[in-house]
Amino acid sequence: MEASRKFDVVIAGAGPAGLATALFLVKHRPALAGRIVAIEKSAHPRFKVCAGGLIPKTMLALDELGIPLDVPAVEVVRGEASTPVGGVDLSRGGDVLATVIRRDLFDAMLARAASDAGVEIVQRSRVLDVTQDASSVRVDTDQGIFEAQILVGADGSGSRVRRAVFGARKETIGRAMMTDIAVDPERTPEFIEKRYCFDFRCVSRGISGYSWSFPCLIGGAPHLNIGIYDQRPHEFVEAGGEQSRMIAELVAAFPELPLDGLKRHATRWQSFPIRWFDAADSYARGRVILAGDAAGVDPLMGEGISCAFEHGKLAANSICKFLDGDGDALRIYDLTLHEGAVGKKLSKLAFAARHFYSPHHRLFFRVARISRRAREIGVDWYNGARHLDELPTRSLIARWARAVLLREPVR
Ligand SMILES: Cc1cc2nc3c(=O)[nH]c(=O)nc-3n(C[C@H](O)[C@H](O)[C@H](O)COP(=O)(O)OP(=O)(O)OC[C@H]3O[C@@H](n4cnc5c(N)ncnc54)[C@H](O)[C@@H]3O)c2cc1C
Repeated sequence: MEASRKFDVVIAGAGPAGLATALFLVKHRPALAGRIVAIEKSAHPRFKVCAGGLIPKTMLALDELGIPLDVPAVEVVRGEASTPVGGVDLSRGGDVLATVIRRDLFDAMLARAASDAGVEIVQRSRVLDVTQDASSVRVDTDQGIFEAQILVGADGSGSRVRRAVFGARKETIGRAMMTDIAVDPERTPEFIEKRYCFDFRCVSRGISGYSWSFPCLIGGAPHLNIGIYDQRPHEFVEAGGEQSRMIAELVAAFPELPLDGLKRHATRWQSFPIRWFDAADSYARGRVILAGDAAGVDPLMGEGISCAFEHGKLAANSICKFLDGDGDALRIYDLTLHEGAVGKKLSKLAFAARHFYSPHHRLFFRVARISRRAREIGVDWYNGARHLDELPTRSLIARWARAVLLREPVR
């Protein structure tokens, strides 16, 4: 019989969710160093299709882990959104709205921090199958068998762990596609004004999402990352030339950019699925839990890096309790992902997606444009600035009422 390697915790996937879980685990329980393994099918630094926008919530998580952001980054302090009923200013008086990084370097930075803290990362190894019984989980990979007390499925939107343990369900997988364009920073508003742009006008033409343009640095050279997100299930989106329709929408959103030429060069476009949060899903079964995209992230914008860190923090907490003998800890993890701060935030974003991407979207965009103060609270809440997104709903409503009705400052 093939020998297996034994660990306390096996993590499938060394992206932000898997690495955040590992980092929070060794932070809470240094004795777990050497007893956690992350299995990664690629090797860091590896390319990941992603715009790399870190919202302030993610920066708070990095602070909590004591990891300085030592990769090239562009800070964005202004934001604009075009909607089917007019433009909206998303700026917050000079506060940083996003820090744009490249995922190959960012994820490699996290992997280095995890390795330094005693987490083993087995690279170029693919998780193939998962089986469990009452006392352990067995993970079959193309580099042998791993056994553990707990398995964390952090292997992204197409999660193999999810399919093996929770069954296949694809209705909640949207798609985003992107490209990068070299630009002259002296002539590009995104660099001159340090701003990002969103364009939701495609909602009126049947796309459940938006186009974006983010300033970023690739190998030190200024670029724009341009992309489009569509929340609809990707099988549907890919049928009948939807992909070229998405590109046409991007061209329409940013007519000033040389995207038209790119239309013909399909290889320059990168596309990837995004699994979004569905309250009907479960995230723990026996000794297996899900985190990050494998579990499901923001349905409205497709933002997932902050969720990956939040899931990682909660997973680490529950795993420590489980290893201490609390047999209910993983069930509580599932419950927290639904009813804790991150679950409540994702449920609100799912609600927003149902309305902003509905046939009545014009009404909702109109409401969003009415009050600048309400919008400022919305932006801070979305960004998790000063942990605003963790406030109970009634405190948020009180804050909103004071800002809008009594004109109290938002901060
Ligand atoms: C075009 C696009 C733009 C985006 N822009 C943003 C943005 O600006 N900001 C933001 O916050 N989010 C953005 N997202 C979403 C973000 O990329 C994800 O939410 C985030 O990567 C989730 O992290 P994760 O660790 O859960 O999954 P991943 O980053 O996908 O990591 C999963 C890891 O598991 C590995 N893996 C997969 N299968 C296996 C297997 N069988 N065995 C072993 N390893 C495996 C993969 O190689 C990968 O390293 C974007 C997504 C797309 C598609």
